[in-house]
Amino acid sequence: MKPIKVSKKIFWLATVLIILLLVNCDRYKKGQNWHKGNLHTHSLWSDGDDFPEMIIQWYKDHDYQFVALSDHNTIADSVFWYEIKDRDLKNQTLEKYQNRFGDWVETKIDSAKTLVRLKTFKEYRSKIEVLDSFLVIKSEEVTSSFENKPIHINVTNIKDEIDPIRGKSVLEVMQRTIDAVHEQRTRLNIPMFAHINHPNFGYGISTEDLKQLNGERFFELYNGHPAVNNEGDDTHIDTETMWDLINIHYYIEGKPLLFGIATDDSHNYHFYSSDNSNTGRGWVMVNSKKLDADHLISAMESGAFYASSGVFLKNLLANQNEIEITVDPEDGVRYEIIFMGYKKDAGEVVELKKVLGTSASYTYQKEDIFVRVKITSDAKKSNPIIEGETKKAWTQPILVE
Ligand SMILES: [Zn+2]
Ligand SMILES: [Zn+2]
Repeated sequence: MKPIKVSKKIFWLATVLIILLLVNCDRYKKGQNWHKGNLHTHSLWSDGDDFPEMIIQWYKDHDYQFVALSDHNTIADSVFWYEIKDRDLKNQTLEKYQNRFGDWVETKIDSAKTLVRLKTFKEYRSKIEVLDSFLVIKSEEVTSSFENKPIHINVTNIKDEIDPIRGKSVLEVMQRTIDAVHEQRTRLNIPMFAHINHPNFGYGISTEDLKQLNGERFFELYNGHPAVNNEGDDTHIDTETMWDLINIHYYIEGKPLLFGIATDDSHNYHFYSSDNSNTGRGWVMVNSKKLDADHLISAMESGAFYASSGVFLKNLLANQNEIEITVDPEDGVRYEIIFMGYKKDAGEVVELKKVLGTSASYTYQKEDIFVRVKITSDAKKSNPIIEGETKKAWTQPILVE
């Protein structure tokens, strides 16, 4: 029989194709489709120092798949002629905007002042959003307070603006805001969710306040603003310990567990330093079939996401018996995968297992109630809020049935 002659080119092409197919099969088998996003950002619509399109463009250019501009007490749907200030002249904010977006920019001079019309949510989204690859979500940071305590709550995929709500306590302000979000969601039949921002900012929101809330599913475990005290201080606990204590309480009370989000809370887009609230410090990775608000929200509400301040995961698998996790490693970086859990009748969340390396699994033990994974590393963040800060990631607590 005549041997079949295969040219070298075809042989290599076929080999590459087979490898690609295998890699993709593996990914689909495991059903992991991660989207990177930041749900907390400010623009000139409130106290950020850049135009919405410039900020969104930054996220688009830096491999994010979604972003929400969450300006204070506005959903960016009115006519707003913004007056250029000294700060903007120094930052060359308008020049940069005009260089990037050309004729799209609308300006006018009024009594020797330069005014620029801020594009509405509808306009900036249509300018930058790309179907199936980059999503812009409507949001508002509902910004209220009680006495001198700041109470800020983000509403992702909001439709109607929610005015800051007052009350007779921190708890009442939070609860009424969350109730308003639930009311809007039910009335419009559109998925949206509230998340409690930076509880340790001004130490406004305590663990006890958060324990008493009803209907709250998310809070900021990590916020990239330099003034928010994620780590607590001598008299206040850090947000991660707070998270565990709240979840023990939620479990006992029969409430769904609280999920932890990481965000930038970015305001400053012209100078990068530890004193500024810059982009790129904290985000969520959501495992969602499709890149739209409905699918992302549904995935997040089911806990199919992790919060990150720099660590990426390749795989995160959980079934009735175990959790399996693989880090997407950076060269030369050491990782620790720490399984944290709440055991029956324990008063606290404890370390269940720690593995030095890039993959690990944990089989649930008889007494386990909920388990989450924290991944730490020795990789230093490039623009940290705390000197020497290293990259981390946190998966959501899983209730062990
Ligand atoms: Zn805030
Ligand atoms: Zn904010």
